[in-house]
Amino acid sequence: MSSVEFAYLKDYRYTDQDVREHPYLEPLARSYLQSYGGDFSFLVAAKLLVESGGVLSTAVTRGVLNCMRADPTAPVPPARSRPVLRTVNPRRPARVRLKASFKRPWLSSRFPTARYAHELHPGLTELWWFPHIERYEWYPRVWCGVSLSRAQQVNTWEIPEGRTACLRCARAKGEIDGG
Ligand SMILES: [Zn+2]
Repeated sequence: MSSVEFAYLKDYRYTDQDVREHPYLEPLARSYLQSYGGDFSFLVAAKLLVESGGVLSTAVTRGVLNCMRADPTAPVPPARSRPVLRTVNPRRPARVRLKASFKRPWLSSRFPTARYAHELHPGLTELWWFPHIERYEWYPRVWCGVSLSRAQQVNTWEIPEGRTACLRCARAKGEIDGG
């Protein structure tokens, strides 16, 4: 197991008990779903449930909150109330790569001095599921190869205001597409 994966093991995930004890978490998950524009099937199903007037179960709320933690565009859920110790089944895979399509094409930094919006490279971008912490992580890659601070990156449908399209991304994409 790599040190990266070990770091995730130590990371916190929301529990059913958290959801039951903190009534503000369910509305938070609900509002996130209402604005969710992605195509991850679990979140899409939960979104449809909310839109049809359904109630999020404790387990679904917990799952949504844990997905929110992996989404750089989501509001950060409130911090945990207490540490939780868990037993990890050593035969369960530490992480599983999921097939996913990434439709929001632009990746940029929230950092105030950032100038460019980079084009997401869907073929190199990866989505992983960490079974023991019930959490998704995505690893976005852009055509020009630049890496953005994980805490600052934002994935959008349009080029954010104040940013311009990265020419190096366009060039790299053109070269690969057009030969
Ligand atoms: Zn770029």
